[in-house]
Amino acid sequence: MIIKISNLSEGIHEYKFNENVKNIGLDEPFFGNFLLNVKLVKTHNQIILNGDLKLNAKFSCDRCAISFDSVINTGYQMVYLVGRQPHDNGSTDVTYLPADADKIDLTNDVHDYAILAVPMKKLCKEDCKGLCFKCGKDLNEGDCGCADESIDERWKPLIENKKNINQ
Ligand SMILES: [Zn+2]
Ligand SMILES: [Zn+2]
Repeated sequence: MIIKISNLSEGIHEYKFNENVKNIGLDEPFFGNFLLNVKLVKTHNQIILNGDLKLNAKFSCDRCAISFDSVINTGYQMVYLVGRQPHDNGSTDVTYLPADADKIDLTNDVHDYAILAVPMKKLCKEDCKGLCFKCGKDLNEGDCGCADESIDERWKPLIENKKNINQ
């Protein structure tokens, strides 16, 4: 994904990319095409890039292990500065371009930001009930009864007590 900057006028420029994830070296959990909307703001010796990225991914739910498709929306900003890189540049969001640079290549940045956007917690739905830790039944499909049994065990003395009081 290359944007030519050699004859780019100062001001705002917009680009759209729609490509297969494989073209930028992404593999599972990503699949299919991703969309990237780019807005460049060019000034004398600086280009500010804002990228909006939309990707499809297939995850396995952390709670119930079902496989589900998810759309990941993420964004990133990159500042391109023309000139030599200072010796100790700690910033990862600044890229230095040689004075005669005629293009910028977004491939590596989009690849890296896509991977950063993979959520830590992968849930098929916010309130996924998960699997019963006793019998393994998917509790989204209905109750298995194990929970009731364990509650019975724990509360038995109290229930007995209550019966006695009521008598
Ligand atoms: Zn789930
Ligand atoms: Zn169960």
